[in-house]
Amino acid sequence: MENSMMVDEQAEKNEILRRYKSLLRVAKPYLKPEDEVNLNRAFELASSAHQGMRRKSGEPYIFHPIEVAQISVTEIGLGATSIICALLHDVVEDTDITLDYIKNEFGLKVAKIIDGLTKISGVFEYGTSQQAENFRKMLLTLAEDMRVILIKIADRLHNMRTLDSLPRNKQLKIASETKYLYAPLAHRLGLYSIKSELEDLHLKYTDAEVYREIATKINDTKVARKVFIDRFILPIQRALKDQGFHFTIKGRPKSIFSIWNKMKKQKIPFEKVYDLFAIRITLDIEPEYEKAACWQVYSIVTDFYKPNPDRLRDWISNPKANGYESLHTTVMSKQGRWVEVQIRTRRMDEIAEKGYAAHWKYKERIKKYNGTSLDDWVAKVRTMLEQNNTDAIEFVDDFRSNLFSDEVFIFTPKGDLKTLPHGATALDFAFEIHSEVGAKCIGAKINQKLVPLNHVLKNGDQVEVLTSKKQVPNEDWLKFVVTSKARSKIKDILKDEIKTIAADGKEIVERKLKQLKLQLSSEIIHELLNYFKTNTATDLYYKIAKGIIKPSEIKKFRSETKQDQQSIVRDAKTFEKAIKKVKGKREDTLLIGEDMDVVDYTLAKCCNPIPGDDVFGFVTVSEGIKIHRTSCPNSTELMSHYGYRIVKAKWTSQKEIAFLTGLRFVGTDRVGLINDVTKIVSNDLKVNIRSIEIDTNDGIFEGNMMLFVEDTQHLSRLIQKLENVNGIVEISRFDS
Ligand code: MN
Repeated sequence: MENSMMVDEQAEKNEILRRYKSLLRVAKPYLKPEDEVNLNRAFELASSAHQGMRRKSGEPYIFHPIEVAQISVTEIGLGATSIICALLHDVVEDTDITLDYIKNEFGLKVAKIIDGLTKISGVFEYGTSQQAENFRKMLLTLAEDMRVILIKIADRLHNMRTLDSLPRNKQLKIASETKYLYAPLAHRLGLYSIKSELEDLHLKYTDAEVYREIATKINDTKVARKVFIDRFILPIQRALKDQGFHFTIKGRPKSIFSIWNKMKKQKIPFEKVYDLFAIRITLDIEPEYEKAACWQVYSIVTDFYKPNPDRLRDWISNPKANGYESLHTTVMSKQGRWVEVQIRTRRMDEIAEKGYAAHWKYKERIKKYNGTSLDDWVAKVRTMLEQNNTDAIEFVDDFRSNLFSDEVFIFTPKGDLKTLPHGATALDFAFEIHSEVGAKCIGAKINQKLVPLNHVLKNGDQVEVLTSKKQVPNEDWLKFVVTSKARSKIKDILKDEIKTIAADGKEIVERKLKQLKLQLSSEIIHELLNYFKTNTATDLYYKIAKGIIKPSEIKKFRSETKQDQQSIVRDAKTFEKAIKKVKGKREDTLLIGEDMDVVDYTLAKCCNPIPGDDVFGFVTVSEGIKIHRTSCPNSTELMSHYGYRIVKAKWTSQKEIAFLTGLRFVGTDRVGLINDVTKIVSNDLKVNIRSIEIDTNDGIFEGNMMLFVEDTQHLSRLIQKLENVNGIVEISRFDS
């Protein structure tokens, strides 16, 4: 490769060595004497294989594997084998080194992990389900070796940390993918700090303004917060010392992303988010005294501050499925503010921060460890993958909803404990017991009371499943099960049923075609699918057998398709062309306004973008390109599922076009207020109002106004003016 930049080679070599040495330093406590030799060999191999390669930032490529190894040690707590694998993780994929060579040099275990990492890496491109399929493959490696996924998460974290140097469309795609899959996965594996950092970085790249605003405010309020925290913890500190505890206590700020979530959910400004931080008390104590000690500390804390009984969380007696243990309470401070206090031991803290690896380390050491829920979860994932034969995207969605949800604890009649996701129903529980029990379930008894299949379970319910031999699952069941186990089992059963019915339908189709002197060929099927707008042949046959499509319509299909043979839209093909046309025309960015003649676009109704908003284009099947805001609630899903259909987009300045946007305002119901508002809008700023809706209640009024503005500047000028109107309490923009 031609070296276009002036690079001080010696300085660079020194820097590479310096970074590697720093890795060795942090890894030292985890290494046996012979490990260091292997580590050195891995480093030598990686740095010579990647020699001359550079990252997009211009840095030597080898910085990346060294950093990934560093993250694996310091932030996940992995050992020698993983460090070697992290150093070599891109070698087979990006250089001439073969897997066989790795196997000879470093043994079978390392080779297997590298193989796993190579298989699941990268190619999240071209094709809707490709990424989902890759993700599925990644989870399959759970069954092989957990380390593959942990290193993959380290890899992703470093890529997110260095996302700055990538082009905008890549940034959006990688960031969305991260929020969609990697953050929940990290969460499920108990990697709390990594999960928070991934979410924060996602926000930084998809909504830079919000991110910057919150970060600045957190920083600005630092001193005041410190004073508050110091005063709050003082009496607790004294009492703990008096009782001879060894502990640390500090105030920890919540992540930017979680603060943003709170602001959005509760529709409040930063200033009103009360739990910007949590107080964490970490005890150094022998495992056998853990539980008693934590409750003792709880009692000390609540001697000084009054607790909110609704906010007590005991994850020590019932750890979360990802292994998280802690005692949380929210108490009232002397200044009248609620403060969350987390009480845990050093061991629990390490598990909470480093997740699986730490969990595993302690499990070996402590015999009396209460519960192995994470292993249970891994086992569950395995069964799920083994039985799942549905379409990959659907699988990932099911899987995700399982990742996100919180849990409820349910007891069997014999008193065994089962963990189910929040919102699980009696039917979910039945499938949890056994798929045969689920399939025959007609209802349940909860605490002796009879309830229907769709009854949502509550924490601590004791459930007895009632079955009947005559019971047959039906389509409706899918509406109220939430576990993927139940879903996929029901789908399997329904599919078998559909197949039987579809077989009848196929016979009908063949007979009809025969009357028309046609053979059942793949072309004919394709035409039939297009004509009847169905996705699969099975679907078509099923609908015909069930009479949803009348057999007589097949005759009609023949006469109509003959006439407009040309106008049959082969969706897939025209669609591919549309994407090529847009992408080929302009390598980089679609200029909204200027490129109007080249491609047709519309503004998405879900987020109503206006000039000045951060936006991207999304190629749709039938409506050209849709422009969405990057902060659109749909954007994460669009970008992570259909990355190849994303087009970069940017506004050109254009004053003559107006854009529809919405403003929501809240105020006190004062006579003449509406008049003042509309006067500013239409007279002072000459904005056209399309609609206005007002609702008054007990002296408070809430209004929604749809209006046409030129761009974000225009909009914020308007908001500023309206904020000054006497009686207006709050003004915010809303979508659709
Ligand atoms: Mn990598």
